[in-house]
Amino acid sequence: MENKLLLNGTRVATDIKEQLKGRVEELTSRGVTPCLATVLVGDDPSSATYVKMKGNACEKLGILSKRIHLPAEITTEDLLKTIHELNEDEAVHGILLQHPVPSHIDERAAFEAIDIEKDVDGVTSWGFGQTSFGFGSYPSCTPAAIMAILNYYDVPIEGKHAVIVGRSPILGKPVSMLLLNRNATVTTCHSRTQNLPEIVKQADIVVAAVGKPKFIKGDWIKPGAVVMDAGYNPGNIGDADYEECEKNAGAITPVPGGVGPVTISMLLKHTVDAAEKKLNQQ
Ligand code: NAP
Repeated sequence: MENKLLLNGTRVATDIKEQLKGRVEELTSRGVTPCLATVLVGDDPSSATYVKMKGNACEKLGILSKRIHLPAEITTEDLLKTIHELNEDEAVHGILLQHPVPSHIDERAAFEAIDIEKDVDGVTSWGFGQTSFGFGSYPSCTPAAIMAILNYYDVPIEGKHAVIVGRSPILGKPVSMLLLNRNATVTTCHSRTQNLPEIVKQADIVVAAVGKPKFIKGDWIKPGAVVMDAGYNPGNIGDADYEECEKNAGAITPVPGGVGPVTISMLLKHTVDAAEKKLNQQ
């Protein structure tokens, strides 16, 4: 690693998409067009934007984007019915249920309804279990993106102390497992953690996954530590205070242009992986 490194997610995302192009062409020439189904429930503007970005990214690469938009008042039962139909649909290779869904819906039941072979966003408990055991096909996309950036820049992981701030099922927990599987020593922090700054100060790798703008402070960062900021708050602000953290960090992801674009690329990659897997099983 150089002395101070900007971990450029846009560059990593471009590299991943370049590698996917040929694979999509090969699949298409064999009569299979990879297809990602996105399910959006309700009219939350941020969720609508995220789904649109994901669909557009698919189409740019020649992946079909099947966009399903359901009314906010839909019942859990009807949402499950839609997911079961997508499970049965031979032309669909991946299913992404945009979350959060409206609070009257049983989100966990909806996630669990997704067929493991189509769980390209790593939201089922079965998928999480497989990821934790080290043989998951499709880890959640943001944790997978964090690992892809670390790999791209050859950041050493083995034996390093990784401190993850956040323990959500789609981010903090799976990235903790991925880092543990790469032989990091992992500490996962959350809202009841005591002496958080002291713990972060011990980290060689810090993952910010809190959902609070500029939450990780510059003086919590050990000189030379690697800061991976998964946060994405209104106004394009990360969960780490970039300007202050950058002073101590040896390497750091910016927001925007860090983990975000790689997350979308991982979703595309998982969809192509799923289409190839299905074709090879036939
Ligand atoms: P989340 O479900 O709200 O989880 C936040 C986590 O932070 C929880 O585990 C919570 O602890 C912990 N936390 C809250 N306050 C804390 C405090 N004061 N000290 C220590 N820990 C605290 O959020 P998420 O879905 O994981 O998302 C986290 C961030 O990543 C957000 O900024 C989100 O926008 C971003 N994100 C980005 C992408 C992307 O593509 N780049 C994708 C997904 C999410 P408890 O468990 O104790 O409540």
